[in-house]
Formats: sequence, C-alpha cells, structure tokens
Amino acid sequence: MKTVKSILELKEIVAKQKTNGKKIGFVPTMGYLHEGHLSLMRASKNKTDFTIVSIFVNPTQFGPKEDLATYPRDLKRDQALCESVGVDLIFAPEVSEMYPEGYSTYVDCEGNITKQLCGATRPTHFKGVTSVVSKLFNIVQPNFAFFGQKDAQQVAIIEKMVRELNFPIEIVPCPIVREADGLAMSSRNTYLSEDARKEALVLHKALLEAKTLIENGETDTKVLINEMTNTIKSSKLAVIDYVQVVDTQSLESIATLEDEFLIALAVKFGNTRLIDNYRGQVGGF
Ligand code: AMP
Repeated sequence: MKTVKSILELKEIVAKQKTNGKKIGFVPTMGYLHEGHLSLMRASKNKTDFTIVSIFVNPTQFGPKEDLATYPRDLKRDQALCESVGVDLIFAPEVSEMYPEGYSTYVDCEGNITKQLCGATRPTHFKGVTSVVSKLFNIVQPNFAFFGQKDAQQVAIIEKMVRELNFPIEIVPCPIVREADGLAMSSRNTYLSEDARKEALVLHKALLEAKTLIENGETDTKVLINEMTNTIKSSKLAVIDYVQVVDTQSLESIATLEDEFLIALAVKFGNTRLIDNYRGQVGGF
C-alpha cells in the first residue's frame, strides 16, 4: 500500500485504475484513525474496487482559537491501520501541496444549513470543509465517497454541495461507531481527562433517553430537549453548546416530531468539544 503526497502522482494512479474499469471509493479523514474511520474504509472496500483514504488535517476548517496545532497526528500508525483493512492507497499531502502560496479559492454553501448547529459557534468551519472536500473530489475523482453519520451536519452539507455543484459522485453515509460504553469514537476523545472521559457518557445516555421517550409516543421536541439537557447537566464538567431536534435535510429546528428527525448535540468538556446525534423516524423503530 502506497502513500502518495503529490496531487499529480495521485491523479496518474487514479487515471490508470479508471482506464482498467475500476470503481474508486474515497474516504476523506484528518487521520489519527480509529474504528469509526476503519468502518468507512470497510464500506468502501465492499462497494468499490480501489479504496483511497486521504489523511489531511485541513487548516481552513479550524477557527483561529481551535485545536489545529494540537490536533493528534501519527502517520505511521494510520498507515498500519489502513494496511490492516486493505486500503489501496493513502493520499497524505502537505498543506503547501493543497494550499500553495497565494491560494484564495473557496467553496461556500451559503444556506442556513451551514449556520445551524455547529455552524452557530464555528462560523467558518463548513466553508473549510466544503472547500477541501471539493478539492479532494476533483483530485481523487471517486465514484463513491464515504462519510460518517457521526458528523451528521457535514453529511447533509456535502450531499447538498454534490447535488448543487453536480459532482458525479455518490455519497455513502455510514453509521456511528461507538466505544463499548457508548461514547461515539472521535480522534478528539484522546484530549479528555479521565474524569471527563467518564462523564462524557452523558451524551449517549441523553440520546438513548430521548429515543425511549419517542418510542413511548413523545413528539414534543421541547420535552425531549429538556430531558436531554437535564441528563447532560448531571455531569459537572459538561458545558452544553446545543441540544437540538431538527429536520434531517434543512437542519432547521422542529417543534413536533414528524417523519424523519435528527437529534443533535454538542457539549464541551474543558477545551474538548464533543458531538453526537441520533437519527430516527417516527414509528420507525
Ligand atoms: P475526521 O477524521 O474526524 O475528519 O473524520 C473523517 C470521517 O470519519 C468523517 O466522515 C467522519 O464522520 C467519520 N467518523 C469519525 N468518527 C466516526 C465514528 N465514530 N463513526 C463513524 N464515522 C466516523
């Protein structure tokens, strides 16, 4: 399994694979891989002939006060994990390869969809995401691209971008992978202190409580949000950014559950901001 740093070399390899009729699967990541990432790679292996994983800590999606400098990085470890699931190629460009001096072109989804939820406290984040994903899509030219439902807002925005900019790519959303105790896997979990790691379980607990209430017929999102907020507040370390119930497409808040819905939350433990969500359908359990 090769690791390529140059855009030109990557493009040449992809062109060769496509000439041979191979379907390309693409898994964009920021590295420091865990089972969540590996599940996307396995999904790609199942659906396509040639799986490319990008490992790139994209500076344009971090705010000025965020964790770009400290974001965990370990290419050797990531290469071994990719190899273990049979990835065909890693694309790990330097920042200067992706954003050469004078770089100034961005792709920005201006809809409300980027301003809700995480967009409210991270106003430039999704512009960085749509820009880098567009660049990566143009470089890799995959047939399928795999994204985790863990970042539900990201999936909704990328799907909209692909539709509106006519990328000839099928987006494949993949389920959230959790630790044995329920915490959603994230590269950022490594930042958590021992106490915060224990208390972070309130996120999953709150979502499960909401799920039970819904199964018992609750459709008032205020009631759900109140319950989840109380559960999260049982942790002394938790500081809520948002707890919301939204439409799965527009990501606008909804007052009453109808059909498909997304319950999304973001909570800070010290400087570590964790997100989690539950996507469901009324009567669809
Ligand atoms: P990241 O490296 O955090 O940018 O994530 C790269 C991809 O992995 C994104 O599509 C994420 O949604 C996905 N991902 C991250 N954590 C998980 C998880 N726990 N379960 C499923 N997918 C995940």
